[in-house]
Amino acid sequence: MKALQFHASGDLRLEELEDPICGKGEVKMRTAFCGLCGTDIHEFCAGPVLIPQKPHPITGATLPVTMGHELSGIVTEVGEGCERIKVGQRVVVRPTIYDEQCASCRQGVRHCCENIGFIGLSGMWLPDEQHSKGYGGGMAEYIVAPASHFYALPDNVALDMAALIEPMAVAWHAVNVSPFKFGDTAVIVGGGPIGICVIQVLKLQGAKEIIVAEPMEGRKKLARHYGATEILDPGSEEVPKRVQEMTRHRGADVIFDTAGVEGALNSVISACRTHGAIVNIAVWEKRPELHVNDLMYREVQYMQSALYDEMSFKNTIEALSYGQLNPREMITSKIRLEDVVEKGFKALVEDRDRHCKILVDVQASECSENGPKN
Ligand SMILES: [Zn+2]
Repeated sequence: MKALQFHASGDLRLEELEDPICGKGEVKMRTAFCGLCGTDIHEFCAGPVLIPQKPHPITGATLPVTMGHELSGIVTEVGEGCERIKVGQRVVVRPTIYDEQCASCRQGVRHCCENIGFIGLSGMWLPDEQHSKGYGGGMAEYIVAPASHFYALPDNVALDMAALIEPMAVAWHAVNVSPFKFGDTAVIVGGGPIGICVIQVLKLQGAKEIIVAEPMEGRKKLARHYGATEILDPGSEEVPKRVQEMTRHRGADVIFDTAGVEGALNSVISACRTHGAIVNIAVWEKRPELHVNDLMYREVQYMQSALYDEMSFKNTIEALSYGQLNPREMITSKIRLEDVVEKGFKALVEDRDRHCKILVDVQASECSENGPKN
């Protein structure tokens, strides 16, 4: 099978691998769609960051690894002892890998596992002979993983939409851990894919106002489409001042930071109401100097949201099925595996404004000519 492997920053190669073998308790899936995410771009530009250079503590894998952690597909084989997932089922993959042993896992907070790994970044635990071959990610015709990573899709959830469940679960979890409640006013810093997902979750949970701070035109348009009530351009407007005006000088109840930029974070502290909360969803590239006193004097909480727990992942699937979330418009292009570097990674780096989510249509690729279409 063809698989896109990460060797080093700027060095992604489409390589021919043996098909992975489905073992006991495992599921083999033919990948349908795989999304590109900010983490992938970060690995491409400045990696390896999360991709292991020495054996990953859980998977034992080192680079090269097959990329892609936002993936959906069709089950082609199930290993012995796997009752929950059936051959032919349409599924989405939860990529998070836990060790089940560390203090976080024992506390029941597995998504904060101290050794956390990801299908698509950390390889995949497979029998020894397959270990070092870089299996795991969704930018490959097949993946094999333990059955617990697979969730059946309701009939009305299309496979391309299902590739957006992972980023939507990130947003779902962030809103879930925040003190946001029905009728609140929220601010979202950054209108990228996660920001757009947060808009959708806030809308369905009954936000009164959803104010988005975003400078890029394409992203502003998408934010508006998804229900942002106001879009502020931090390049030309004073965001905190405008938020104060819009909230009759009370401030926003909850602020979601998807950008991870020091100046932006410090500035929105004054857009938050007393006893409000700022929720960080961003992975920061640089360590910020946080204006802690500005938080402290008005008892503004600075909270963190990392990935998603299993409940958020399942709730996201359900909300998609109910039509409460509809990420269709977020998909700005579908590309073939052969074109993923030029039309995927490079397009996202060079043309951030035009793209929200790029999906690799793995079955559309030349390498899949013999495979069934879906
Ligand atoms: Zn753990």
